[in-house]
Amino acid sequence: MTFSSQNIIDQTQEYGAKNYHPLPIVIAKAEGVWVEDPEGNRYMDMLSAYSAVNQGHRHPKIIQALHDQASRVTLTSRAFHNDQLGPWYEKICKLTNKEMALPMNTGAEAVETAIKATRRWAYDVKGVAEDQAEIIACTGNFHGRTMSAVSLSSEEEYKRGFGPMLPGIKVIPYGDILALKEAINENTAGFLFEPIQGEAGIVMPPEGFLREAYDICQKENVLYIADEIQAGLGRSGKMFACDWENVTPDMLILGKALGGGVFPISCVVANKDILGVFNPGSHGSTFGGNPLACAVSVASLNVIEEENLVDRSLELGNYMMDELKKIDNPTIKEVRGKGLFIGVELTEPARSYCEKLKEKGLLCKETHKNVIRFAPPLVIEKDDLQWAIDQIKEVLQ
Ligand code: PLP
Repeated sequence: MTFSSQNIIDQTQEYGAKNYHPLPIVIAKAEGVWVEDPEGNRYMDMLSAYSAVNQGHRHPKIIQALHDQASRVTLTSRAFHNDQLGPWYEKICKLTNKEMALPMNTGAEAVETAIKATRRWAYDVKGVAEDQAEIIACTGNFHGRTMSAVSLSSEEEYKRGFGPMLPGIKVIPYGDILALKEAINENTAGFLFEPIQGEAGIVMPPEGFLREAYDICQKENVLYIADEIQAGLGRSGKMFACDWENVTPDMLILGKALGGGVFPISCVVANKDILGVFNPGSHGSTFGGNPLACAVSVASLNVIEEENLVDRSLELGNYMMDELKKIDNPTIKEVRGKGLFIGVELTEPARSYCEKLKEKGLLCKETHKNVIRFAPPLVIEKDDLQWAIDQIKEVLQ
């Protein structure tokens, strides 16, 4: 039995906690860059589930891996080894050029893992006094919705009514190198940042910041921790957004497209001197590293490599950015981004523009009120992208 869009929206309103404010569209089917509602209306997905669907919806190779693995074994817990985890470890370590990985499920869990690793590293390796470790984060950050992640946030609404927050956190203005220098003291364990802030509205630090911050962290023996959950895996036109300034973080946090939009998997990768601080009993997850997620993840990473999605993102992103910059409309404050990770900041709320784009068959979502985020699946064909640009021009011109 199929339900109408209105039925489903009503049901969601009736029974669902109100922690989201979705556009009034129900997706019942999807393939590549296209999604369809129960009535059969087609839309282009310009959000890619916040960059989790970089490989396109239901990529056949990823779905094949899911089917194959689902017909063998799906979950073992980490009480036993499973035959997909080893190959996944090797794949992710080689891709990131790191010695060790730790798989979790969601992005926020991987951020938690990074925070735990950083604190323990501070005590066991750096020699910070007990319970004094500090982590520096940036204004405008988004690292997820768990208590540690919201404790890092500078957004009041993310934290209101959830206190007390995690101690040992300092927040500096994003991109402010002097503030970073000043915030570091003998207790500083790590500097955690997004190389491009997605949820903040595709915000990039000033050029040179990623490199300078890296140099300072090296000098001060502070871990340089990049949350590449949204910006990584090709989205920015490089495999990792830190590649734009040729820096290799001490610790990388990945999620979203790591599971190709098919199965949740996230991870932290680092060298043994850092991730080696975990021992049996110190961290874990029942589903973390499950064989289904690992098989899907290896296939998802293979698709990024085999289909040159990183170069595609760069080329098509440059093209899209140039086209959007040509739109002459005083309501547009700025068009910015890297690769197919583009924000159009308006001088007024973006919601009504997203609604108009939806009427034209294009699904996007406003972020931070005035910004429209354009982040199509990286498999998008040039013709489809052109069609999208034409619709955007009609709405924004
Ligand atoms: N970190 C970044 C940079 C993100 O963009 C997100 C999600 O949008 C997260 C962490 C949290 O990931 P998840 O929603 O899978 O917990």
